[in-house]
Amino acid sequence: MENINKYIDKEKSLDLKHAYMDAYSNKEFKEFIETLPIEEEILIKYTSKLEEASVEYHNCKKCKNLSSCKNKICGYRYSPEKEGKMINFSYIMCDKKVKEEEKNEYLKNVEFYDVAEEIKKASFKDLYKDDANRVPVLKYITEFIKKYTKGEKVKGMYLNGSFGSGKTYLIAALFNDLAKKNIRSAIVYYPEFLRDLKASFNKDYEEKFNYIKKVDLLLLDDIGAENVSSFNRDEVLGPILQYRMEENLPTFFTSNLTLEELESNLSITSSGVDKVKARRIIERIKQLSETVELVSKNRRN
Ligand code: ADP
Ligand code: MG
Repeated sequence: MENINKYIDKEKSLDLKHAYMDAYSNKEFKEFIETLPIEEEILIKYTSKLEEASVEYHNCKKCKNLSSCKNKICGYRYSPEKEGKMINFSYIMCDKKVKEEEKNEYLKNVEFYDVAEEIKKASFKDLYKDDANRVPVLKYITEFIKKYTKGEKVKGMYLNGSFGSGKTYLIAALFNDLAKKNIRSAIVYYPEFLRDLKASFNKDYEEKFNYIKKVDLLLLDDIGAENVSSFNRDEVLGPILQYRMEENLPTFFTSNLTLEELESNLSITSSGVDKVKARRIIERIKQLSETVELVSKNRRN
């Protein structure tokens, strides 16, 4: 029996060796293997995985830029590493991806709350420049950057306008730009933030609430689209705005509603009509921001 087992083992290792030698006759595979500080007796057990790693190694060698990466996971290379008498394979980040990550490190200064991917990447560099309607907004943004970075007191913006006109994108581009100067900000899709805040009553309510209250720059995105309740208006929005006013923390809003429309929207809740409380919110918004209108074509597809 022992003899038979020995025979089978020998056959197996011959098969492995054949498969390995077969692969080794390929010029690219050979070139890849020669970069590895691993003995042949170990390598021969991993031919198919090494072939896969070899393909990715050569993809990387020919790579021009990250966006044309041919590897299974973009920006990563399937690579072998020797551990004792074994080889472990894992996906390792390539140099180009590492550089890109480092370049984008500043984005960590912006907290996005239920915001679309393209908004997270918003930048002045990619801004559509074909639209005269944006000029007042861009002027304000330029002024804002100048004053804010000098430490001067400056108001945020109440950006009101049509759906898809680029309101959120423009403020996101501003926050991303200031993030490079280590200024922290948050873009909060307001209707969803309220839903989530309600759901976290017994959990991290205070933490979420305080974060929004205190962050350097805040965008309350799509205000007016939320479900208005007296609690949301008087215990959430009111205190956030009050605090930010007292602390001179610039606050931005985007809305499909004008301030007048927002006021009537905020006055009606299931517990009745309260014009005074709605008025008070609008007064705070006016203290915190300059109203700018953006009416433009819908950029959503
Ligand atoms: P709004 O907030 O006014 O409803 P968005 O800011 O969400 O509109 O913009 C709508 C779409 O158009 C988004 O997909 C956004 O990425 C794109 N977009 C808007 N403005 C620009 C811009 N200036 N440059 C590039 N893409 C933009
Ligand atoms: Mg928007």
